[in-house]
Amino acid sequence: MKRVEGKVAVVTGGALGIGRAACLLLAREGAKVAVTDIADEEGGKVTEEIKELGGFAKYWHVDTSNEDDVSSAFSSIVSEFGSIDILVNNAGIAGVNKPTHEISEEEWEKVMGVNVKGVFLCTKHSIPFMKESGGGSIINMSSIYGLVGAADLPPYHATKGAVRLMSKNDALIYAKDNIRVNSIHPGFIWTPLVEELARDSSEGVEAFRDQLDSRHPIGHVGEPDDIAYGVLYLASDESKFITGSELIIDGGYTAQ
Ligand code: NAP
Repeated sequence: MKRVEGKVAVVTGGALGIGRAACLLLAREGAKVAVTDIADEEGGKVTEEIKELGGFAKYWHVDTSNEDDVSSAFSSIVSEFGSIDILVNNAGIAGVNKPTHEISEEEWEKVMGVNVKGVFLCTKHSIPFMKESGGGSIINMSSIYGLVGAADLPPYHATKGAVRLMSKNDALIYAKDNIRVNSIHPGFIWTPLVEELARDSSEGVEAFRDQLDSRHPIGHVGEPDDIAYGVLYLASDESKFITGSELIIDGGYTAQ
């Protein structure tokens, strides 16, 4: 028996990075995967990759900050796949990297719209389906930046702190419905999001990566699969007694 055999998983931001790794691993372990993203071409490629490996997947365009997108896609996923058992609220953006007093209202709201409202909207529109089918597992991608500060990316820190507590609150609200809600807190993972931060940095990509590596006691940044395995565990029934919890996967970053 595969670890999430027979379950339907929705992954937001599933085209690239951590989301892509989660889609591939959940499919390999038997889930039907709804890959969702705004990067349609890359999202389509992930579903093709899953099918070539013998898995089951389909792509939906979903901007998580747009309620119409979320609502219509989630209804369509249930019509085609039968249920939503696993929701991975993974889509997120880094946003502007400026000191707080230089950030515009629009820049602040953009990050909030994806990282916080997106998690709210996808949770809101998956809960009725989970209740109907008798339960589910929601996995919210927070960050080490939702646990500790770092003197950069102010709106990003605010959003990831919010996601941590939204997870605990929803865990309490929906425990009676057999819906578990947990957050994952990755350290730095080498993905397109972090590569962009590296490209934008004053020191250049190589020096940026060396500096990031040195901030993790284990000696290097992580890979998308390091996080995907955490997603798989929280998605599977192996974690059936875990809710309102935070899974830190950070090479020791926050142990210091
Ligand atoms: P990534 O490489 O940028 O991939 C994220 C995907 O989400 C991209 O395909 C992106 O599309 C998509 N996306 C952006 N805005 C969206 C929206 N409004 N609706 C739907 N999809 C959207 O990011 P990642 O590094 O894999 O990060 C995934 C999650 O992990 C994020 O929540 C991030 O905050 C969190 N995280 C990452 C790290 C890290 O070091 N990488 C550490 C801690 C937490 P576009 O490329 O078109 O924007």
